Amino acid sequence: QRCLHFIRKTKFLNAYVTVTEEIALKQAEQAEKRFLKGETLGPLDGIPIAVKDNFSTASIQTTCASQMLKGYIPPFNATVVQKLLDQGAVLMGKTNLDEFAMGSGSTDTIFGPVRNPWGYSRQYQERCAQNPEDTKDSSDWLITGGSSGGSAASVASLTCFASLGSDTGGSTRNPAANCGVVGLKPTYGLLSRHGLIPLVNSMDVPGILTRSVHDAATVLGVLGGHDPKDSTTVPEPFKPFSLPDEIDVRNVCVGIPREYHAPGLSKEILAHWTKAAELFEKAGARVVEVSLPHTQHSIVCYHVLCTAEVASNMARFDGLEYGHRSTIDSSTEVMYASTRHEGFNDVVRGRILSGNYFLLKQNYDRYFVKAQKVRRLISNDFMKVFSSGVDVLLTPTTLSDASRYSEFIKEDNRTRSAQEDIFTQCANMAGLPAVTLPVALSERNLPISLQFIGQGFREKNLLTVAKWYE
Ligand code: GLN
Repeated sequence: QRCLHFIRKTKFLNAYVTVTEEIALKQAEQAEKRFLKGETLGPLDGIPIAVKDNFSTASIQTTCASQMLKGYIPPFNATVVQKLLDQGAVLMGKTNLDEFAMGSGSTDTIFGPVRNPWGYSRQYQERCAQNPEDTKDSSDWLITGGSSGGSAASVASLTCFASLGSDTGGSTRNPAANCGVVGLKPTYGLLSRHGLIPLVNSMDVPGILTRSVHDAATVLGVLGGHDPKDSTTVPEPFKPFSLPDEIDVRNVCVGIPREYHAPGLSKEILAHWTKAAELFEKAGARVVEVSLPHTQHSIVCYHVLCTAEVASNMARFDGLEYGHRSTIDSSTEVMYASTRHEGFNDVVRGRILSGNYFLLKQNYDRYFVKAQKVRRLISNDFMKVFSSGVDVLLTPTTLSDASRYSEFIKEDNRTRSAQEDIFTQCANMAGLPAVTLPVALSERNLPISLQFIGQGFREKNLLTVAKWYE
């Protein structure tokens, strides 16, 4: 009831695409009954959770914030959603995102941009809550970052205790950082992608957004593990873990990557990053400067790989099986083309075109194969650093605190979006786990966050170090 109350009060944030009020109330009632009988299913029984609208949910519309899938009702649940439901979690609704998770703003969505709960005066918030129409056109608000902006805003505005996002190049960590919540991108292969509508299959992972590192570990414990429906999940059994109360970082080696002193990094974030390194040192951790020399190539490399996989993935949206179908259909080809023209925004169409260009026979070796080689070099950079004794890397998550919407849309969105991911996307290319957590408030009173990147499948170490800093 309390979470639904907050959903109603913060409707102007546009965090939710669908609110599943009836389902939530029923699930909560059942969880309460189990609780009273002493039959609680586990740590998430009765806990309100929201899910990004690119995870398939049985009988609940799943849109990817795209005209293409508007009205699409999947016949099955994504594995991670099913796991939440099996554990008694209460589904509050589906959250807003950039169309097909392409973006870093949560501004390119058919439902309208998501607003960051931070940066409003109390009076402004009250005005919005009372009369959303009154403030609709105002651009005096901040973006959440993206693409899981709805999920980040849903946790930050207390409408749920955790939410699912997806992370292909930073889409869980970027909005988590902008909204002052914890965002965990698990190791590739630890969580099932079955039912997560793909962006880049070789990099996508379900992400977890929570209010604390402890909560992220709890949700991870429920979601991790092999899924026969996703052959890229690892077969080794996954053991849920809890984080120690007393943490000693004296045996920890923290790496500071030299190349992450990127152009455009705000002075404030740099200061907090430096301060964090000093605090680790003071507590007895070993802090070393390390080099990840191929970082500078990551944005271009990601662009080639991402768009190539997008071109292949989006081929399924042909107007026949799912969602939208154009009525301009004088031939099958014309129907395909007009369906895609009407169904996708220009970001999606642009990526399909770029991807197909990189995959042309004459370009394949020059771009696609080369990008795969660069990806390997980026991944090897991490392997070298970790095999030299470094346990975790400490980096910024974003270049600055949250941007104003009016500023964000001024620039070319695609260029902007690409630059924003500089600190996050390398972990996707290498498949490594990473977590962002809020560490301070900026001069503008907005969250500043830092990121820890860990070794593959060592989520426990990663989250333990993060919890110490929290
Ligand atoms: N911003 C990146 C992109 O637009 C990452 C998106 C994501 O992680 N889903 O592709």
